[in-house]
Amino acid sequence: MTPTIEAPPVAEDEIAREPRALPYLFEIAPYVGGESKIAGANRVIRLASNESALGPSPKAMAAYREAAAGIYRYPDGASTDLRAAIARHFDIDAARVVCGTGSDELIGLLARCYAGPGDEVLYSRHGFLMYPIAAQAAGAMPVAAQETDLTCDVDSMLALVGPRTKLVYLANPNNPTGTYLPAEEVRRLHRGLPASTVLVLDAAYSEFVSAGDYESGLELAKSEANVVMLRTFSKIHALAGLRVGWCYGSAAVADILNRVRGTFNVALPAQAAAIASLADTVALDRARAHNERWRPWLASRLRALGLEVTPGVANFVLVRFGYPPRDPHAAFEFLRTRFILTRKVAAYHLPEHLRITIGTEEENRAVAAALADFMTAP
Ligand SMILES: *Cc1c(COP(=O)(O)O)cnc(C)c1O
Repeated sequence: MTPTIEAPPVAEDEIAREPRALPYLFEIAPYVGGESKIAGANRVIRLASNESALGPSPKAMAAYREAAAGIYRYPDGASTDLRAAIARHFDIDAARVVCGTGSDELIGLLARCYAGPGDEVLYSRHGFLMYPIAAQAAGAMPVAAQETDLTCDVDSMLALVGPRTKLVYLANPNNPTGTYLPAEEVRRLHRGLPASTVLVLDAAYSEFVSAGDYESGLELAKSEANVVMLRTFSKIHALAGLRVGWCYGSAAVADILNRVRGTFNVALPAQAAAIASLADTVALDRARAHNERWRPWLASRLRALGLEVTPGVANFVLVRFGYPPRDPHAAFEFLRTRFILTRKVAAYHLPEHLRITIGTEEENRAVAAALADFMTAP
């Protein structure tokens, strides 16, 4: 194929002495994940990354082990069996499912496919940080809409939509706030967007939500050509270390993602474990019931200490500490001395808060007891 765009001649003084990355990439503040280790401690309570409290399905682990014998082979680059399993489970069209190396890969690819220099990518102020990062990596401008009560505000989102808005990301429920938009609000957001703007509904935590007015976005993605729903195996499926996510969109969205994604993006044992996990409804129900029991428990314990807890519906709580001496930094450090890791969320414009993942019963009791000591210490 001959190039369709002719490169302009390069002037002598434009030739750099060393390789230079695209200048707009230097505006990205690299994503910093939750801590997972404390030097010198061999047992740490990890409540910093919204990982599963109960661990993966035994069936997923067995499938992973069994797949080990085949890891000298390339995986099926089309994730055919995994897409078929997803399609059966959700009663959707396998041809419109695209699997990724975690949903992170798909978040990034959607930005690259639909936005570039001169374009805008809309998200909400306390929305997931990967959205502005993905926009900037594509050369586009991330635009943040103000929230109301730490919840996405559809009117303020729509007020920022213009001809340059190519992509809108909404995590529902959102990380790190845990709040969600009811189905009617999501639909109103969609109705207010031009048909050419892609609405990405990130449903990473949807399995934890039991509210009657909630929808994951799957129904919208089925019928609307400009809606894409994202899912992950990292949260309720407890396979964060394997990196598997997927999305559902129109045939055109699937086609473009399949052109640009990593050819063998989902590893062979990851495909096998994800298929087994999807089938283990007992493990999924247990994880959901565990969260349903312990999230309100932890929230009420912390409220009883005088802390403000955002009413969230995912597998974590967002806790407001406020000002010194009992500010989030002091709380974070205090919890660290008890070998408990939580997440600071100042990068999300929440400098007074910590995010705490729901853990096992023992872990939840440990973090509640530690914070009781922190709040009552002289
Ligand atoms: C955890 C999370 C994801 C999942 O990312 P993976 O790459 O699939 O592990 C996606 N979106 C949000 C909002 C999350 O919090």
